[in-house]
Amino acid sequence: MSEKSGVKAYQYLKRFDVNVLIGKIVKAYDGQTVTLSDGMKIPAQTLVWAAGVQGNILEGIKSELSRDRRYFVDRFNKVNDHENIYAIGDMAYMPSDDAPNGHPMQAPVAMQQGQLLAKNLTRSLEGHEMKPFSYLDKGSMATVGRNKAVAEIFGGFKLGGLMAWMMWMFVHLFLIVEFRNKIVIFGNWVWNYFTYDRGTRLIIRPFKRPAVKQTRNHLEDRKPVEII
Ligand SMILES: Cc1cc2nc3c(=O)[nH]c(=O)nc-3n(C[C@H](O)[C@H](O)[C@H](O)COP(=O)(O)OP(=O)(O)OC[C@H]3O[C@@H](n4cnc5c(N)ncnc54)[C@H](O)[C@@H]3O)c2cc1C
Repeated sequence: MSEKSGVKAYQYLKRFDVNVLIGKIVKAYDGQTVTLSDGMKIPAQTLVWAAGVQGNILEGIKSELSRDRRYFVDRFNKVNDHENIYAIGDMAYMPSDDAPNGHPMQAPVAMQQGQLLAKNLTRSLEGHEMKPFSYLDKGSMATVGRNKAVAEIFGGFKLGGLMAWMMWMFVHLFLIVEFRNKIVIFGNWVWNYFTYDRGTRLIIRPFKRPAVKQTRNHLEDRKPVEII
C-alpha cells in the first residue's frame, strides 16, 4: 500500500498501544530473548513469527527461481525454459513494467491469472494467439483493529478509520459465497462488536468491563479481560 496508508496504519497501531519497530530485522531468538539487527534485545517467551510466505515449488521442475522461490514466468504464465509448463498465483513471478518486482502474492492475482490461463489454453487449442496478462488492481484493504482500517480503491482513492473498516467488513462479507454463511457471519460480527466478545482480527485497547453485580462467588476473583 502507499506510504500515506502505511503512516495511517502505524498511527492507528500506536493508538492501540502496539509498539511498532521499523527498519530492523530479527537476527536471533533463543527462546528467551529476541535480538534485532541493531543489537536491541527484547525479552520474550512467546514469539509469533509472521515474516511472509514463499512459493511452493515442485523440485522436479528445474527453472530459474525468484528470491521468494517463485518460478519466473512470461506474460502468458509460461515457466521460463519450458514449453508446456505454466504457473499461476503465488508460485508465479512475472516482473513487468507495471510490477517490476512481480505481482503481490494475493488472491486476486491468482484468480485473474487462473481465469486468463484457462481462456488462453482454449484459445491456443483453437489456433488463436494467447493474450498477455495484465493485473487489474481493484484495491487493497487492511484492518488494523476495532473501527480502524486503511483502504485504497483502484490505487488512487484512499481512506481510513471507521469508513475503511466498514468497507473492509462489507467486502469480506460480500465475498463469502453462501447467503446462509453471510447471515451467520454478519450475526457473529454484530454480536462480537457490541459484547466485546473475542473477535477475529480485532485488536482493542485493554479495558475494564463495567462493574456488574456478581451473585456467584466463583466470579469474584475474575480479572479484567484484556485482549490485545
Ligand atoms: C495467513 C494468510 C492470509 C492471507 N490473506 C490474504 C488476504 O486477505 N487477501 C488476499 O488477497 N490474499 C491473502 N493471502 C494470500 C492468498 O491466500 C494467496 O495469494 C492465494 O491463495 C494464492 O493462490 P494460489 O492458487 O496461488 O495458491 P493457494 O491458494 O495456496 O493454493 C495452492 C494449493 O495447492 C496445494 N498444493 C501445494 N502443494 C501441492 C502438491 N505438491 N500437490 C498437490 N497440491 C498441492 C495446496 O494445498 C493448496 O490447496 C493470505 C495468505 C496467508 C498465508
